[in-house]
Amino acid sequence: MRRSIIGLLLLTFLLPFFLCSCGNIRAQRQAEKKTAEAETVLEKFNTSNIRGQRQAEKKTCLSNMKCFLSAADIYASYYDGYPTSSSAGTTPYKWPQDFYDGELRNGAPVCPGGGVITVYYGDSMTRPRITCSKHGSP
Ligand SMILES: [Zn+2]
Repeated sequence: MRRSIIGLLLLTFLLPFFLCSCGNIRAQRQAEKKTAEAETVLEKFNTSNIRGQRQAEKKTCLSNMKCFLSAADIYASYYDGYPTSSSAGTTPYKWPQDFYDGELRNGAPVCPGGGVITVYYGDSMTRPRITCSKHGSP
């Protein structure tokens, strides 16, 4: 009889504590699950954001190179031949700065993604070729 009273008392005091800690563990697991879900959503957002940024950089880079080649066509119609080097043209119009309206680095358009753009000149009958180390040719 006495044992069962002690057991009942212990059960009365320990059971709420036990239930409470179980609830805590459950709540903690749910919180961890929600955090993991939030991290996954954030990761997907960042990945798609980076992908979108890279696609925009590629579009801009290819567009810059196309504009550069169009500028070479305008040069060719003005001087009756394509530019044969990055310092072609005489007064009043020098190649490429007087024909190309964008930002230039070493006489070539600038890649927004940090790629290196190289222009290959041929003879005056050949349109220059242009390529970006990151985005290829237009
Ligand atoms: Zn590029």
